[in-house]
Amino acid sequence: MAQVTCSFCGRNKKDVDLMVSGISAHICNFCIDQAYQILGEEEKTKKQEKKPKFKLRKPKELTEYLNNYVIGQDEAKKVLSVAVYNHYKRLLQKDNKDDVKIEKSNIIMVGDTGTGKTYLAKTLAKILEVPFCIADATVLTEAGYVGEDVESILTRLLQSADYNLEAAERGIVYIDEIDKIARKSDNPSITRDVSGEGVQQAMLKLLEGTTVNVPPQGGRKHPDQKMIAVNTEDILFICGGAFDGISRHIANRLNTQPLGFSKKTESDVVDRNNLLQYVTAPDLKSFGLIPELIGRLPVLTHLDPLDKETLKSILTEPKNALTKQYIKLMDMEGVKLEFEESGIDYIVEKAVEYNLGARGLRSICEAIITDAMYELPSDQETKELVVNRKYAQRQFDKSKFKKLQVA
Ligand code: ADP
Repeated sequence: MAQVTCSFCGRNKKDVDLMVSGISAHICNFCIDQAYQILGEEEKTKKQEKKPKFKLRKPKELTEYLNNYVIGQDEAKKVLSVAVYNHYKRLLQKDNKDDVKIEKSNIIMVGDTGTGKTYLAKTLAKILEVPFCIADATVLTEAGYVGEDVESILTRLLQSADYNLEAAERGIVYIDEIDKIARKSDNPSITRDVSGEGVQQAMLKLLEGTTVNVPPQGGRKHPDQKMIAVNTEDILFICGGAFDGISRHIANRLNTQPLGFSKKTESDVVDRNNLLQYVTAPDLKSFGLIPELIGRLPVLTHLDPLDKETLKSILTEPKNALTKQYIKLMDMEGVKLEFEESGIDYIVEKAVEYNLGARGLRSICEAIITDAMYELPSDQETKELVVNRKYAQRQFDKSKFKKLQVA
């Protein structure tokens, strides 16, 4: 009988553990093993080729897209668009062995609550198609203390990227309430400031770019979980905070600025209703952020307070404006819902009265429309609902909202 040999390597059957025979060829276990490895490599390269890409869009394009959703805040939109564009351009040129290294442009936004800080960051991440997460600085503490470690921020980003490490490493993190980790006192020696300066210190490396071991499930509840090493060098950090009281610092600074002999121009006139527009890095420092942290957030911008007109536009104009959403919901029931101008004005007045910014619009609308949304699906007769001032006021007065203290 003819000797059986491997058709790939020529080994003899007696020299191998296994020989698989086909129609007119044989393959030994060594060659099967090797072929399997080649297959694995091939898959890996294919995956790398499919590397998560991001869409590089020009600043004007970014702003135009933001305009569809976010009303006003032109300055913030412009600054954010440029910073985000530069950040992703930086990623594109990283592999070039060029002398000029573009530095990371993490961003800090100062603006009252409910003016759209989170919304801007979220909308940007959507257009760029990169993973995005929101982290709350108030729960963070220095490692080892009750609360969350700074690394937990990255756990969230990994989760939002479906554990695709490469995608996560190009994501955007929004850190909310950054003002809450301001240094608590001017004298750090009295007690350890574990949720203030301690967190700021812990954040420095993260913001600048380092490799951090991240617990994929988060927290300290799963001590044996395998850590994932995340490189933060290409993650864009956007921080936001209301910085209550910072206007005072700004006002003081503006008042004490030497005027010199130059003639006052129109641009010297200070708009006292919107002092945040003059915010500078030293103001953040006097508020209690450490200079090292401020240095790692080189792009500083502000959000304007929302006046009645802007709130009205927010309620009616964006692509997914609240009123459009309610109209759609009612339309699905066969009911024509109409918001009269007087009704809209009433909702806006209440949002201003309760000092809730744009965030309050939603809860006020709910208070006004919930009854109708409860009744109308079972009501075959009513085919129309008009929300005017009278209707809005009656419903609002009935709601538990009314019982809330005015903030
Ligand atoms: P914050 O500044 O406190 O982060 P958010 O971004 O969370 O405020 O705003 C709360 C909600 O209010 C958003 O989800 C959005 O629906 C609405 N909103 C706030 N500001 C604007 C704006 N300028 N344009 C459109 N909607 C806005």
